[in-house]
Amino acid sequence: MKITAVDALKVRVPIKGDYRMAKGVHKALDSVLVRVVTDEGIVGVGDIHQGVAGYTSETVDTIFSIIKGAYAPVLVGQELDSPERLHRLLTEERMGNPFARSGIEMAIFDILGKQAGLSVAGLLGGPVRKSILLSGGIGIETPEVAAKKVTDIVEAGYRTIKVKIGTDDVTQDIARVRACRKAVGDDIAIRIDANAGYNMTDALIVVKALGELNIEHIEQPVAGEDWEGMARLRALGAVPIMADESIVTPSDAYRLVHMGACDVIKIKITKVGGYINARKIIDVCESSGTELVIGQGLCSSIEAAAEAQLACAFSHVCSVAEMVGPAKLRDDLTDSPISLEGGQLSLPEGNGIGIDLSEEKLAQYTVGGEITVPAS
Ligand SMILES: [Mg+2]
Repeated sequence: MKITAVDALKVRVPIKGDYRMAKGVHKALDSVLVRVVTDEGIVGVGDIHQGVAGYTSETVDTIFSIIKGAYAPVLVGQELDSPERLHRLLTEERMGNPFARSGIEMAIFDILGKQAGLSVAGLLGGPVRKSILLSGGIGIETPEVAAKKVTDIVEAGYRTIKVKIGTDDVTQDIARVRACRKAVGDDIAIRIDANAGYNMTDALIVVKALGELNIEHIEQPVAGEDWEGMARLRALGAVPIMADESIVTPSDAYRLVHMGACDVIKIKITKVGGYINARKIIDVCESSGTELVIGQGLCSSIEAAAEAQLACAFSHVCSVAEMVGPAKLRDDLTDSPISLEGGQLSLPEGNGIGIDLSEEKLAQYTVGGEITVPAS
């Protein structure tokens, strides 16, 4: 089976309200929809959201340009026989660009699953579960609004919530987390994400304060490159430390664990560049006894399903994931959005990623690029 075309489109889907974090604000879901077509008529899809400015250097424009200008010319004409071989080809053509590459890998695994009659989780060696619990997340809000929002999330069935902090106002950040703990009681797990927002002084204040609030973990309190700072905060023993922005490659995961700089690792299929690298990071975590959480806060049902396939493929992955992006959308790129009912994601029944792209919705939300590949 040969690849005959690779298409990319810039897409913008409205969201239910601004989603604010330490290093930027989402005002819509901006993404690049990728389709890979084969000579057997099988079309694979992928979708990659644009992270906020402080999270990734990639934008919808760079993702689109790299796919159209660098990766598509290399892939067209290739035998679709080995994702690992194609992964290496892309690396040789243009290193980095993990968000762009993850979209290509989603589409490639979608095709291989459809051809084999398997889900992507099945291709990866699973599934070990057909559904996964979710952590319901809120952005940076006043303590009062945060308390109301997490109460609504718990009433919707979630047993784990995630609260964003990491602003210049440490007092307000701590007050937000206290208000959430008071609102949901002691039986709900609370995760905290600072998105690399603190300097070391503020991070020390926050981590010590959170120690009284029975927090599951604090995610990326200091800059991604400050591995020594992460190790210092972990040594306090107050709250387990999660690394997110610090980890892009399998080598990052290996070295960060080796230097004792985190208790938990977070991966997103986009940040790590797709299934091949994600699997290697999961192996590092399993072999070192390091907990691993998967998921991202804003994405379409296509991207959430692609990531859920990964989370359901491996037993070492934490059974509470975070791909809750579709819950924040006003619409989606499919007529059958992924089910997040009751704080639990059900793996789609279909082969490949398991989500059917809607041509009508794609046409409605496309804001850039030419549709050059018809869907089969
Ligand atoms: Mg994070």
